[in-house]
Amino acid sequence: MAPLTLKNFRSIPGTAYGTPKELWDFRLRAPAGPPRRVARHVLAANADLLGLEGVTLDFSQAKVKHSLAARHVIIPQRFRRLRLYRAYVTVHIAKDQHVYLVKNRAVPAAYTKPDAGFTKTRDAAERIALRSVSRRRRGGLQILPRVERMWFPRLAKDGSSSVRPAYCIHVRRARPRADWIVFVDGHSGAIIRKYDNRAERTGVAKVFDPNPVLPLLRTPHPVKNGRQRVFPDIAYNDVRLSGLGDNGRLDGSRVTTNLTRDRIVSSARDFVRNCNEPGFEEVMAYFHIDRAMSYLEDLGYRGSRRLFYSPIPVNARGTREDNSEYSPHTRSIMYGTGGVDDAEDAEIILHEFGHAVQDAICPQFGQSKEAAAMGEGFGDYFAVSFFAAEKPEAYRESFGSWDGIDDPTNRPPCVRRVDSAMTYESFDHGPDGDEHDNGQIWSATLWDIWLAVGRPIADRIIIESHFQLDGHTTFARGARAIIDADRNLFGGRHLEQLRRIFRRRGIGPVE
Ligand SMILES: [Zn+2]
Repeated sequence: MAPLTLKNFRSIPGTAYGTPKELWDFRLRAPAGPPRRVARHVLAANADLLGLEGVTLDFSQAKVKHSLAARHVIIPQRFRRLRLYRAYVTVHIAKDQHVYLVKNRAVPAAYTKPDAGFTKTRDAAERIALRSVSRRRRGGLQILPRVERMWFPRLAKDGSSSVRPAYCIHVRRARPRADWIVFVDGHSGAIIRKYDNRAERTGVAKVFDPNPVLPLLRTPHPVKNGRQRVFPDIAYNDVRLSGLGDNGRLDGSRVTTNLTRDRIVSSARDFVRNCNEPGFEEVMAYFHIDRAMSYLEDLGYRGSRRLFYSPIPVNARGTREDNSEYSPHTRSIMYGTGGVDDAEDAEIILHEFGHAVQDAICPQFGQSKEAAAMGEGFGDYFAVSFFAAEKPEAYRESFGSWDGIDDPTNRPPCVRRVDSAMTYESFDHGPDGDEHDNGQIWSATLWDIWLAVGRPIADRIIIESHFQLDGHTTFARGARAIIDADRNLFGGRHLEQLRRIFRRRGIGPVE
């Protein structure tokens, strides 16, 4: 058996316990065997590194999730036979039996000193839980039978840590519908945490959709430059923000703006702001990413096929430079505020989200010159495809008309277009070759597909094609992957059209 101790890898440090939160960027050949056993061996060999000495991982309760190309083992941590709230370790095994990622949410043994025992009875805890959600006696409330005793990690401000005994109690109310989960301290009877599990709240906001340029085109005051800060109402769309939690911030089930400084807060979830007021970029980023993710869910990437396992963290105003980026290290997006704020242009927002989509499907996409260009081209395509139906003809192929408003070289204004005439022959493989320029060959190819088969089919086969690519891929392999996706999804109904497009763009061989 090959040694399983990790040597070359990268890690994301944890803030609470000094142990790494994530080990990644490695490929460890694992012994043959079922995923749980592989996970057990790998974790045992790296227990020191992960701070797992003396930690009890309950492999009998481990869950294995199957995605299209990997198996993901989630192992809960136990302490004195009970679950530790949200403490677990995950091991991710690719189909070829290589382990490529370990996530560590275990609480090291030194931090699991209990500072009390269970002195409250279950009955007492249930009464406390009921009282915490309704002052009226009974009031149609029902306690679900799955009351669980567990340990609740508590990190004090001075850095010391202990665990509290806790009851986890589910309380349901039929009308109006509510599903609370209440954590009651098993010693003091205090409410440790309480939330309505069913609740996904909505907020109100107004946004540019995708930009203020288009709605003002035919008005007496069209947008002339990026310094304009005040817009009439028709520049905005009134929208609902979905998936929000109840902390009054833009923390949702799909997106969180938690990396942004001076975050917008509203306990009434009223996020209506003008573009010259603080918080507008945050609202824009939240709304557009949340909606785009919900679109991907509608395409079928939901449930066990979902692309994202936790909300994407966003910094809506992350740098003064005129630059935005997706970071594969932290899996987060940052928008810059140089020139027009990038997060004021929904197409720029979705371009960066495009990188996140690729990275979610195919980690570390874009490591070769061609793959990097495909990353940029896909982001432009995804954004343009998303808004194309809403745009006037003359603007349909322009990407980023608000962000690019001050660039005199493009008319109509834009950052780039997706209908370049370039073919693969013009790909600049030299050291100065820019991935955004090269990317225009790819975005134009994808756009040809959009024009030939329409958005619903084009988006599906293009997104699906990523599942068989890797970070060092090429245009030719990308094209073949699109063809495979068409075979798998549509029985190859569009093969002739696709081949013609790739041939015309000089990409191949694809036969
Ligand atoms: Zn990009």
